[in-house]
Amino acid sequence: MTQEETLAILRETGALLEGHFLLSSGLHSGFYFQCALALQYPEKAELLARGIAEKLPPTKFDGVISPAIGGIVIGQEVARLLGVRAIFAEREDGKMTLRRGFSVKDGERFLVVEDVVTTGKSTKEVMELLKSKGGIPFLAACIVNRSSEENYLDIPLVSLVRVQVKNYPPGNCPLCERGVPIIKPGSR
Ligand SMILES: [Zn+2]
Repeated sequence: MTQEETLAILRETGALLEGHFLLSSGLHSGFYFQCALALQYPEKAELLARGIAEKLPPTKFDGVISPAIGGIVIGQEVARLLGVRAIFAEREDGKMTLRRGFSVKDGERFLVVEDVVTTGKSTKEVMELLKSKGGIPFLAACIVNRSSEENYLDIPLVSLVRVQVKNYPPGNCPLCERGVPIIKPGSR
């Protein structure tokens, strides 16, 4: 799947929004990706997951791990295509943890799957959590990589869409200066 094909799915499902948004990273932006709006359609979720799976190297993974909530659906779909299990990490008192009886065995190799990577913070936290359990974060994948930096993880990141849309710190945002009302989108 090409970047244009992916963007077409995101646009037609309303998952790509334009305006003035407060991102979960605290930065402001004129663009927001709400991938849940595309993933609500199982056939679109499958297409996106297939696109990710096709971009993966021929590596054997023991499982897929995603940060909740945004990464769960796409992680599950990718895992289904790879024929492995899908688990997710969630925040408890602000700290990424494995709950619900999910466990990781020593030396298991994982694909870390996110919907949108902005700063890579959640992905990094999941990688650290995995390592603390003896697992190996081998590769990361996402639908949209909107990071402004080139390399923020210690492992390669596969993405269906690579966009370098500008994100602004709150005190230095042209949209704020123009008085455009800011929207805090629903939790990712
Ligand atoms: Zn702003």
